[in-house]
Order: sequence, then structure tokens, then C-alpha cells
Amino acid sequence: MTEVTAQSESSALFDRAERVIPGGVNSPVRAMGAVGAEPIFIERGRGAEIFDVDGRSYLDYVSSWGPLILGHAHPAVVEAVTKAAARGTSYGAPTEAEVLLAEAVVERVPSIEMVRLVSSGTEAVMTALRLARAATGRDLVVKFAGGYHGHVDGMLAESGSGLATQGIPASPGVTRAQAAGTIVVAWNDFDGFDATMEQRGGEIAAVIAEPVPANMGVVPAREGFLRHLRELSRRAGALLVLDEVITGFRVARGGAQEQLGIEPDLTVLGKVLGGGLPLAAVGGPVTMMESLAPVGEVYQAGTLSGNPLATAAGLATLGLLDEQAYARLGETTARLAAGLADGAAVAGVPVHVQSRCGLLTVFFTAEPVETYEDAKRADRDAYARFFRAMLERGVYLPPSPFEAWFPGLAHSHADVDRTLEAAAAAFATLGE
Ligand SMILES: *Cc1c(COP(=O)(O)O)cnc(C)c1O
Repeated sequence: MTEVTAQSESSALFDRAERVIPGGVNSPVRAMGAVGAEPIFIERGRGAEIFDVDGRSYLDYVSSWGPLILGHAHPAVVEAVTKAAARGTSYGAPTEAEVLLAEAVVERVPSIEMVRLVSSGTEAVMTALRLARAATGRDLVVKFAGGYHGHVDGMLAESGSGLATQGIPASPGVTRAQAAGTIVVAWNDFDGFDATMEQRGGEIAAVIAEPVPANMGVVPAREGFLRHLRELSRRAGALLVLDEVITGFRVARGGAQEQLGIEPDLTVLGKVLGGGLPLAAVGGPVTMMESLAPVGEVYQAGTLSGNPLATAAGLATLGLLDEQAYARLGETTARLAAGLADGAAVAGVPVHVQSRCGLLTVFFTAEPVETYEDAKRADRDAYARFFRAMLERGVYLPPSPFEAWFPGLAHSHADVDRTLEAAAAAFATLGE
């Protein structure tokens, strides 16, 4: 007997997508191959939920990979974007909203006196590194294994995120010179960092780090590690660039630098800053930022930079992020993290749940994860099975063990309860 199963709309779209888009996706992290599934095509979102083209709904913890701290289609953001769009979508000339957004960033982030707005985190990182090279007259950049800084050529070595998920150590197509311009040090490795600075300190333009790395899963710094990076880079005459594309406006109002008391030379922002539209920024002290054209000679530009729709979404989003919002988000994250750890313990599944306000990863290992190597030792197959069991129960998690979950302000107490119920059942299936 032949069983006739109607193909789902999602699967039909994926078939078509694969013919005209490499892998059917416009960013590799959206593929679900690593967890043994096919991408789900989304029709719409509302609050903490997304709805697929087959009419199924999911509680969403991907949150567009970080930007949607207020949830999907937040009325304030939709209204701001709609109003902006009705006035015109782009002018290639300055607008008031760019000034307001720059002022909002400067007011919130301690080390930033000036910002240049761009359209993606990748561009912002590229600009920060160009600025650092120009300011120091040096070429080398130190990054940490498992740290992701966008798809800038020189930053693709051991960069976690989508490359880790796909098992790509570094991308072909990066020139030898670009690869040689980057020194990779293990995260949380004081000795490794000291040795690098001792040997090459005089050639290093910048040390770049995510203050709370979240692209190999959430792997916070050991006590004193960020302060150590700050001191040694200063001593070597190198700049410290904090990549706060994820942590900015997520872990605290003024980003991780405010929370942890670390003052970088340059900061990279994105994701939450654009409220779900393409927007990112590089910021720092006036002296540094004024070396950018048209004041200085370091060139940087963008047709859609500071786009009216994106600045409107960013302003609407930042406007709702007060101290109370962060207190609530911290509480939601902590309850989720504790509940997940409990659920796993009850089912006898060894996990280590690592979290910060608005960020969380369940590592399927009994050991704490402090480095990229630790993250790679966690049980990926267990994560894949957990992912599928959660998806069946209507909870949409990042389709990779190397990514953060993004709880947001739209996740209610009841949503967390529902997630923990699903997780208890999903953990139970792993023992089977
Ligand atoms: C997402 C991300 C980037 C890149 O931002 P895009 O907007 O995707 O180019 C850079 N750094 C970190 C830490 C990120 O998480």
C-alpha cells in the first residue's frame, strides 16, 4: 500500500528555494541540517510566537538571532516603521532620526562619544578594525577562538556560529595575507594571551572580543579575563574592540561594558540596536571616531546607512528598554535556565546551562564550558534530538548547539512554564 502524504507548504518552498538560493537559505545559520531537520518557512510572528506557512505556531527563542528583544511585530516598532515608510524609505541625505539614535547610543554606552551608523554588524567590525589599524599604524588583530565577528575575511578563523555548525574551520577565499593578519587565542586562556602579547604586542592593532561570547554558545569570561585584556592591550599600545553586537542593549542598558565595568577603545553594536531592521554601529571617543571621513582620512560609507526605517525601529526599541525591562528579562532568563537544569537533572541527562540576561545555552555536557574546545566536546547528537523533540512540542530553538537562545521581553511567565514542560518531556526522550 502506498501512503500518500501531502507535502507541507514549508517543504515545497524549501524545494523551490534550493533551486535558486544556495542551500535554500540566505544565511547558513538558518539551515537545519546540523539538527537533522529542514528549515521552516515563516509567515508571520507576534510577541514570542512565530507562525509557519503551514499554520503551525512555535514559541520562538531564535528571535531573529538577537535583534527582537521586544518580540515579533511589537506595536510600537510596527507603528514607527510604518510612519517612517510612509514618509519615504531612503534619501541619501541626513535625517533627524539618525541624530536621535546616535544620541541615544552615546547616552547609554559609557565608552561611546560618537557613532557611525552602518547596516550590518559585519560592516561595523570591518570599520572598527580599519580604524584601529589606522590609529596604531599596525596590521595584526587578535581574536578569540569561538568568537564571531561577522563574515569579514580576516575574522573567519575559528569563528564559531554558522562555521562551527557546518564544521568549517576557516573559509576558502580568504587570502593568505588576511588569514596571517589574525592571531587566534583560546578564550579564557590568560597564559596564551600573555604569550601572544609578549611575542607580537608591538605589531598588534587591536584585540577584538565578544564581552560575553554567545556564538559558540554562551561562554562568559573567567573572573578578571576581560580586565586582563584591557590592561595588556593598553600596555602594548593596541586597541581593545568590544564586539557588543549581541550583548549591546541586551545584557544591560549600557551593554556588557557597563555591566562589567570594562572600557573599550571601540565598540561594535548591531542586532537589538536596529530593532529587527538592518542597522549596526561602530562607536568610540571623539578623537578616534573623527579619523573617519569626511573629518579624517579613514574611508567608510554606505548607501543605506542610517536608513529611516531602521533608525525608526531602533529608536522605538531602545525607548522601551528601561532598567525595569532588564530586571524582568534577567528574571525570565534565570527562571528558564534554572528550570532547564532541573528538567535535565530529573531525566538524568548531563547538561550545563550557561546564561546571562537575555542569553542562554544548554550544553549537553556535565562539565562547565569555558573555551571553544569545551563547547566542541559537548554532545551534538543529544542537542539535535533535543531540538527535534522541542520543535515537535512547538518550541523553536536555534538549530545548532553552538548558538545562544534569545529569551526576550515578550516571553511571559506562562511561556517559560510551557517551555519547561516541553523540555522535561524532551529530556526524557533522550534517555530512551
Ligand atoms: C551577528 C554578529 C555579528 C555580525 O552581524 P551581522 O549583522 O550579521 O553582519 C558580529 N558580531 C557578533 C558578536 C554577532 O553576534
